[in-house]
Amino acid sequence: MRKKIVAGNWKMNMNLQEGIALAKELNETLTAEKPNCDVVICTPFIHLASIAAFLNQDVIGLGAENCADKASGAYTGEVSAEMVKSTGAQYVILGHSERRGYYGETPEILKEKVLLALKNGLKVIFCIGESLEEREANKQNDVVKAELEGSVFNLTAEEFKNVIIAYEPIWAIGTGKTATAEQAEEIHAFIRSAVAGKYGNDVAEETSILYGGSCKASNAPELFAKPDIDGGLIGGASLKAADFKGIIDAWK
Ligand code: 13P
Repeated sequence: MRKKIVAGNWKMNMNLQEGIALAKELNETLTAEKPNCDVVICTPFIHLASIAAFLNQDVIGLGAENCADKASGAYTGEVSAEMVKSTGAQYVILGHSERRGYYGETPEILKEKVLLALKNGLKVIFCIGESLEEREANKQNDVVKAELEGSVFNLTAEEFKNVIIAYEPIWAIGTGKTATAEQAEEIHAFIRSAVAGKYGNDVAEETSILYGGSCKASNAPELFAKPDIDGGLIGGASLKAADFKGIIDAWK
C-alpha cells in the first residue's frame, strides 16, 4: 500500500522563533493524537537544525524546500543536499514552480539536484504542474510528462522509489482556485500511468502522488477520496497548526 502523505511547504515564511513555535505545536498535537498518514513539514534552511533537535520524526518528517545542484565548493549562498541531511532532515522539495519560474531552475539543473538529494539519502518531493495558459490549451498532460522525463525518469527504479510526486497546477497555487477533485484525479491517474509506462505497474502503485494548490481542510476530504490522490502538498494552510491539522484529519 502506498503512503498517504500530508506535507507542508512553509515557503519564505516564519522567522526562526515563529517556525520553532509552530513546529512545537504540531509536534505536541500529533504526538498526542497520531495521524492516519505520514506528515512532513518542509521549512526554510534556517529552521532545520533547531526543529530537528526536538521533532518526533516517527510522527512528523522534516524537509528542506530546495538544495543546491552542486555537491560542495565555491557556490556562495547555496546549501547542499549533504548539509540538509546533516541537520536531521529526511526530505527535500525540488522542482517547485516558484523555483522554476522565479529562479530559472531548468530540467537539467533539477536533474542534478534530484541525483544529489538521493545520493545523500533524502527523499525527494518532486513538483510538476502546468500554467493556466497550458491548461486552457489542454496541454497539461504533455507538460507534466515532459517535467517527469526531464528530471526524474532518468533514475533507476530503485532510486525512483524515494521520489514522491506533487502535482501542483500553477494556476491553483495561492490563488484560492483549487482544481476540482475530478480535474485533479484525471491528471493524477495520467501521472501514475506515465510512471507505470516507465517503471512498471508495481512501482507506479507504490508511488505517492500529492495534490498541491489551495488545498485546505474544507476541500481536502473530497480530493483525498480520489483513488490516485495520495495526499497534499500544502502552502498557506500549513502555516497555522489548526489549519494544517484540519487537512491531516481528512485522512480519518
Ligand atoms: P498554497 O497551498 O498556498 O496554494 O500553495 C501550494 C504550494 O505551492 C505548495 O507547495
